[in-house]
Amino acid sequence: MKILVINAGSSSMKYQLIDMSDESVLAKGNCERIGVDGHFKHKTGDGREYEKDVVMNNHTEAFVQIKNILIDEKYGVIKSLSEVSAIGHRIVQGGSLFSESTIINEDVIKGIESLIPLAPLHNAAHVQGIRACIEVFGSDVPEVAVFDTAFHSTMPQKAFMYPVPYEYYEKYGVRRYGFHGTSHRYVSHRCAELMGKDIKDLKIITCHLGNGSSITAIDKGKVIDTSMGLTPLDGIMMGTRTGSLDPSVVTFIAEKEHLSPSEMDTILNKKSGFLGISGVSSDDRDVSAAADDGNERAKLAIDILEYEILKYIGSYMAVLGGADAIVFTAGIGENQKSHRENVCKNLAYMGVKIDTEANEKTIHGKEGKISAPDSSVDVFVIPTNEELVIARDTMMLTK
Ligand code: ADP
Repeated sequence: MKILVINAGSSSMKYQLIDMSDESVLAKGNCERIGVDGHFKHKTGDGREYEKDVVMNNHTEAFVQIKNILIDEKYGVIKSLSEVSAIGHRIVQGGSLFSESTIINEDVIKGIESLIPLAPLHNAAHVQGIRACIEVFGSDVPEVAVFDTAFHSTMPQKAFMYPVPYEYYEKYGVRRYGFHGTSHRYVSHRCAELMGKDIKDLKIITCHLGNGSSITAIDKGKVIDTSMGLTPLDGIMMGTRTGSLDPSVVTFIAEKEHLSPSEMDTILNKKSGFLGISGVSSDDRDVSAAADDGNERAKLAIDILEYEILKYIGSYMAVLGGADAIVFTAGIGENQKSHRENVCKNLAYMGVKIDTEANEKTIHGKEGKISAPDSSVDVFVIPTNEELVIARDTMMLTK
């Protein structure tokens, strides 16, 4: 069974074709700058690469590029489109409507559309992506929606409510939803596998640290709290996002600088975080290199990040009543060994002990335990694989 995984953004469409017999990636790529000019990249599992500028005015035109390359004589990986058994879509916002993955029909599309106010850029793009697939493949190929928010739907109300007037929750659904759920689900289950235990017997704190970052507290396989909120802006500082703030900072700056809500939104989402503090870059590699060269603001950005990771882990330890494991994942979590080491060293008071050598070695997509055998909490690096989770859910629902 071959499953096509689609992740449609506002101006991009990423894809992977996965052979579920051995879960290998047959091909993957990205249509970038859709509606602007257009750039298409494609790579096969056996290393053939194709890249070109091509005008893509909308998601349907982008999807035609994907369809054509998959069956192309030189760069293709299947003989006919009929080999694609099902399509799985990543959907960012499932709101309170979707607590698990679901087969897509017109009602589901309407549901995803109804959540556009909560995730304007993402959900609108996902709907375009779904419609593009239906247009090109017809309705015979089943499609499945896998939601970033779904894994977090088990949070208790005390964790997901914001203490603003209750009517805003009732009228607009203002609450914490959490994101990166597919990643937190994958790494927590993989962690249980690596520990040789049932996830129902474990308390795990998962740290997804990438361009966007979130930390989640998981008890017996169920999320009980997570750092992202109504939108992905909440929680720890990120590449260009602030993370949590005193809300008065927002009104204070807006008044002083005469900024509209949407201008403020751009500052909080696109100009803050690593970029805002360091003035160097939103990318941890650039900021770390600048810090190594003695740039004080770059050093400060890294100090803030490590401090905030530590604070979240500490608070989730309290919420969970201790933890059996901490997991690091995503670009920063999988690669930035010094952040992992600095955070874990600060948890020594509760018996967390890092194995420095294992930590140094576990980078660039490697998976493994980085805590010492006598550490009170196991610490793992587990490369995330959201596409595989989407493909597995799609297979389960359509087989
Ligand atoms: P996204 O949230 O966009 O999926 P990623 O998970 O790819 O982002 O994470 C991007 C971050 O991870 C960047 O800050 C980058 O510096 C860091 N990162 C990615 N790869 C590496 C690497 N090989 N070494 C160090 N840092 C990396």
